[in-house]
Amino acid sequence: MSAPIKIRNFINGNYVDAISGKWIDNYEPMSGNVYSHIADSDEKDVANAYEAAQKAFLNWSETPIEKRSRILIKIADLIEENQQVLAEAESRDNGKPLSLSNLVDIPRASANFRFYGNAITQFASEAHESTGLQTINFTLREPLGVVGCISPWNLPLYLFSWKIAPALAAGNTVVAKPSEITPMTASLLGDICNKAGLPPGVLNIVHGLGPKAGEAIVSHPKIKAISFTGGTKTGEHIARTAAPMFKKLSLELGGKNPNVIFADCNYDKMLAVTVRSSFANQGQICLCGSRIFVEKSIFERFKKDFIAKTQALKIGNPFDKQTDIGALVSKPHLEKVRSYIRLAQEEGGKILTGGNTVHPEGYENGYYLEPTVIELHDAYCRVNQEEIFGPVVTLIPFETEEEVIKMANSVVYGLSATVWTSNLDRSLRMSKALEAGIVWVNTWLNRDLRTPFGGVKNSGIGREGGFEALKFFTEQKNVCIRYE
Ligand code: NAD
Repeated sequence: MSAPIKIRNFINGNYVDAISGKWIDNYEPMSGNVYSHIADSDEKDVANAYEAAQKAFLNWSETPIEKRSRILIKIADLIEENQQVLAEAESRDNGKPLSLSNLVDIPRASANFRFYGNAITQFASEAHESTGLQTINFTLREPLGVVGCISPWNLPLYLFSWKIAPALAAGNTVVAKPSEITPMTASLLGDICNKAGLPPGVLNIVHGLGPKAGEAIVSHPKIKAISFTGGTKTGEHIARTAAPMFKKLSLELGGKNPNVIFADCNYDKMLAVTVRSSFANQGQICLCGSRIFVEKSIFERFKKDFIAKTQALKIGNPFDKQTDIGALVSKPHLEKVRSYIRLAQEEGGKILTGGNTVHPEGYENGYYLEPTVIELHDAYCRVNQEEIFGPVVTLIPFETEEEVIKMANSVVYGLSATVWTSNLDRSLRMSKALEAGIVWVNTWLNRDLRTPFGGVKNSGIGREGGFEALKFFTEQKNVCIRYE
């Protein structure tokens, strides 16, 4: 076996070890082996990263928008050119099927840079003339300074770039930390940024543990804003640290999304998409529809067809072209998901299919789990209220719109919801009634990057996407001029 890869910090355009000289083991989910070591950074590394970012800020914030835009678009091009290498790195680090990294993760990371490279050229601010008072107001939108971006492991480069691209486009410099569980593609991004001509210090990537390196970013007194995507508990903790320092905060947190299926839907389309919305990325997408509510008249038919489709999914090595379901991201996460399957049984749920770990030949120690479908009678039990974030969905029948709205809205989360119906009135009624930041009708994970993205309730505060992210990463200043 070759020596483990070293994943080093990227500070001021250079790859450097953590000052402590310490490393963290990084596991390969498909085999369970340690395959790389990650810089175990602390507040000293974050201080260095901040320093570099602070030095770079004046030049970068004054760089003409056209030039910033060109550099971001060049990063997008280079991600595209390196698609194969990045996709393989993502699948190896995360356990997701290579087909998914190739189809979704890496193209979307490139799209994020391309989108914000273009969006910044269209980002304008308002003027307000106080007619009759000889006064004109105009709004300046200025970059904040050095900002912090912290991202999770489920869509590593996709979500890392979703924050960094708008932050850079708006003229900020960045100290960013990817998840310590999937740091690989973020680490490769440093090189790409250098090749694209991003000046040193504009983007700094610090690796390490959340409570140490992440915490150092959040509590750094001069980092002006934190854009965070991850778990609700972590978000709560971050808010507690950042709020008394009056930092701007964007929190994209957990979900427990309802997928509401009415009998009048396009059945075949619904069935095919529901398999994806349940199990894509091993169910580890914050937008997965993990609670499936089905109108009673088609419940038995749906149950039979959905089980058959689920059982047809091929679980295995992410690099195998036939694989639909790869490995879960880590052993502790696999154990957490399994504990919810046990809890479901204790709570009276019936496992219709799945529930077992899988040990493909040659990869016996990888973190594989069968996609699992659980029939529940109690919509309010813990399994149906808490985020599992794995290939596990629940099925519950319903009879009326009122009943399903009540069950769908009963959780503390409110990220996304999906509704399947061909009745236009109902689709509008449901879209209004469901407590979520995003409602998909007759589709799922359909994303236009101009639209606001984010959740309500414990799924977060603030919106990303489109101009919303550019607004977050800028401060408004009103200039009021009176003329004689
Ligand atoms: P997590 O909260 O454990 O970690 C996310 C990031 O925060 C990591 O980089 C981690 O190192 C860092 N972190 C941990 N503790 C920290 C601290 N005290 N201070 C600063 N940083 C800290 O989440 P995860 O397990 O990586 O990701 C899964 C979660 O993310 C799920 O709950 C999922 O729903 C959520 N998620 C939400 C969205 C969204 O857009 N709303 C998207 C993807 C994932």
